[in-house]
Amino acid sequence: SRADALLTVRDLEAWYGESHVLHGINFDVRAGEVVTLLGRNGAGKTTTLKSIMGMIAKRKGSITFEGKELMHSPARYVAKAGIAICPEERGIFSSLSVEENLMLPPKVREGGLTVQQIFELFPNLKERLNSQGTKLSGGEQQMLAIGRILRTGAKLLLLDEPTEGLAPVIVQQIGHTISRLKNEGFTIVLVEQNFHFAASVADRHYIVEQGRTIDMIENRDLQANEGKLHAYLGV
Ligand code: ATP
Repeated sequence: SRADALLTVRDLEAWYGESHVLHGINFDVRAGEVVTLLGRNGAGKTTTLKSIMGMIAKRKGSITFEGKELMHSPARYVAKAGIAICPEERGIFSSLSVEENLMLPPKVREGGLTVQQIFELFPNLKERLNSQGTKLSGGEQQMLAIGRILRTGAKLLLLDEPTEGLAPVIVQQIGHTISRLKNEGFTIVLVEQNFHFAASVADRHYIVEQGRTIDMIENRDLQANEGKLHAYLGV
């Protein structure tokens, strides 16, 4: 594995019951990088994030974070080690206020942001402090879902399709948020279908196809690899 990698995933396989869905996922993420997993629907991107988080019962291979093997660790230990996931479905509780939603995840380690610091990152959430989850727009819900995991003290953030279903102007705001988190020193693994968004925020891209990582492309080489990407993703 790379000496300077924060996260290393090697020969990761995963199953849902008898259904074998990951067949060989390999990637590295260095501290401070934004790395995307790109691929078609059903390629195994979400399952990869869940496997890292310890949320998939049957898996094999190796997942190391800061040099520690996590393959046999339960989700609560993975969170304690400093990894957090923002799931595709966002998980906002509609009957709770913005502030109550933010208070939900426990602070599992030192360095977690306070609610005040989260509001500094997301000023529009502060204006909605007492609003119920249901009253928020899709973009505000996504900001809340990302803000919420910052309380845990995680330094590696796994973001599953944060732009899904959002208007272009909101997608742009999410992009600014991700850049800001990168500047603050967070490391991010991003699952995306929105290729243009991925290109605007990431350092590198791993292509996932049928449960395998089949290629890695540096963001600066995207243009030169347009033909390849078209074949992989149909974009
Ligand atoms: P999408 O963008 O559609 O979420 P993805 O690349 O994230 O795609 P996964 O959600 O990881 O793909 O799904 C990988 C494969 O596992 C797919 O064939 C999917 O149908 C299957 N799968 C996902 N979740 C489950 C589950 N809970 N039980 C059984 N099979 C599942």
